Amino acid sequence: MSHQRSILLVTNDLGPRAGGIETFILGLIDQLVIAHRAGGQIVILTSTQPGSEKFDQDLMARTGVVVIRDRAKVLLPSPRVNRVAARIAREYGCTTVWFGAAMPLAWMAGHLKRAGVKNLLAITHGHEVWWSKLPVFRQIFKQSTKSLSHLTYLGEFTRSAMQGAVSKNCTMVQIAPGIPIDHFVPSQKSKELVAQYDLAGKKVVVCVGRLVHRKGQDKLIEAWPEVLESHPDAVLLLVGIGPREKFLRNQVATRGLSRQVRFVGRVAYNELPQYFSLGDLFAMPSRSRLAGLEVEGLGIVYLEASSSGIPVLAGRSGGAPDAVLQGITGEVVDGTDVKKIAALTSRMLSEPERLREMGAAGRVWAVEKWSWQIWGDKFAQLLGL
Ligand code: GDP
Repeated sequence: MSHQRSILLVTNDLGPRAGGIETFILGLIDQLVIAHRAGGQIVILTSTQPGSEKFDQDLMARTGVVVIRDRAKVLLPSPRVNRVAARIAREYGCTTVWFGAAMPLAWMAGHLKRAGVKNLLAITHGHEVWWSKLPVFRQIFKQSTKSLSHLTYLGEFTRSAMQGAVSKNCTMVQIAPGIPIDHFVPSQKSKELVAQYDLAGKKVVVCVGRLVHRKGQDKLIEAWPEVLESHPDAVLLLVGIGPREKFLRNQVATRGLSRQVRFVGRVAYNELPQYFSLGDLFAMPSRSRLAGLEVEGLGIVYLEASSSGIPVLAGRSGGAPDAVLQGITGEVVDGTDVKKIAALTSRMLSEPERLREMGAAGRVWAVEKWSWQIWGDKFAQLLGL
């Protein structure tokens, strides 16, 4: 048959909708296509989304993959979807099936194995941690992994959190989203932005992230008066938007910090590196919420800062510490402890030479350990390419 393809990707997370998982999946596809010339080997089964026609055409033209949209808005492991996936696997002769997000889609793995697929693997993104913890969900998770040869994890935190609920037959392998190391590069502070935000001669702490409880911008603002005691010229630059914006703005106003804390809003992806580079320090003291069910899966943004050559102060939440070499590329702090956040921020700002060393070490670490190419090569091996 002329249209034989060895790999079937089953996923709900393919554009045009944009988000962390979609970026991860597209990044892996790009690596398989660019470095392993595997576009012609891949067929994708995904759900219907408005405006997907042009997206699919572009993706197929650019990469050579085939995209099949099921009529469902969300693919669930129902008997009907099981049959659709098994039929596509049979028609294209797929020997490997890759689930873009393990839960709940990997529940299909048993069915596909019985239908003759040899190699089944699934990617995890962080939310599987609560699947692996809650009763009933845990059973479904464990059962799903029985037919998988590999389950991927983001970092040490998610690996150890899920491990007890993963079947012995299934091997856990680290595959994280790569950092675009050629996009996030160290550079001088942009003169225009320094002028625009009145940062000349000031110590700048930058935070890039959605404005939500978990990311800890509120605790940074609470800590700021104390930071100002030792660094009167310190400015906190908050990049990002989110539901907590009004609360945070009120916090700043009531503390009289409007000159020392600046809200930048959402910044275009192309301009993001310039904003990281404005920082002498990147700080985002994330904290866990909902009894540990809401955590950072992996603090990608810390790695983006490191790749940009900026030292980081991260919060001890879930997998955030996996994105920092403590004492080398940055420091980790309890994100609920305002005193410690203030003390550590002040101390780090007092040691500019050490900050520069940490930034340089972060760049080396990002390039050596976290680039797309590294994860893409490892993933290609799992797929048997
Ligand atoms: P999550 O939001 O909890 O998934 O946090 P992550 O740290 O895993 O991912 C956040 C991603 O969103 C990172 O790649 C950030 O660079 C990106 N991000 C956050 N705020 C902004 C912004 O204002 N503009 C742009 N372009 N990206 C942002």
